[in-house]
Amino acid sequence: MFVSMTVRTQRNYRRIERSRLSLLIALVLAVSPFALAQTSAKTIALTFDDLPVSTIGQDPQPEFTERASNITQKILSVLKKHNALAAGFVNEMKLNTPGARDFYCGLLMDWLVAGHLLGNHGYSHLEFGQVTLQQYEDDFLRGDVITPLLLNYRGTKARYYRYPYNDTGDTARAELL
Ligand SMILES: [Zn+2]
Repeated sequence: MFVSMTVRTQRNYRRIERSRLSLLIALVLAVSPFALAQTSAKTIALTFDDLPVSTIGQDPQPEFTERASNITQKILSVLKKHNALAAGFVNEMKLNTPGARDFYCGLLMDWLVAGHLLGNHGYSHLEFGQVTLQQYEDDFLRGDVITPLLLNYRGTKARYYRYPYNDTGDTARAELL
């Protein structure tokens, strides 16, 4: 059921992000003078995946906290500078980092305190077409524990899900589920 509730949202975001690299590109384009010149005519949604932080080749570990904090604060600083709100999508598996759980949850709170939204991006970033539906739903539920609590704490609700890899299914029927 969660798939049908979120598929429209997913479609809205489909063109914005296809990989971690594209997130960086999107951010750079969003804050470039060219992009700013275009905003009067069109509106885009700024989204960031793989929160609390995406560090290619470096899954969250206690020793990476300083780098994770720096990345987060830089992103939030640029968004604030341009008075732009964004949505961040969380892989809660990354929160489950022994010795750094509070730290990574704190990064999510930084996003919320700055006024941004958070959504579910699957607990462990499974690819829909590579697992069973049961496995996929289990991963969704497992990844929908801490983020909703943080959202509730900030007086809002969990509303969005993003399919990892933008994989919404390999058939037209699957994409409509
Ligand atoms: Zn992702």
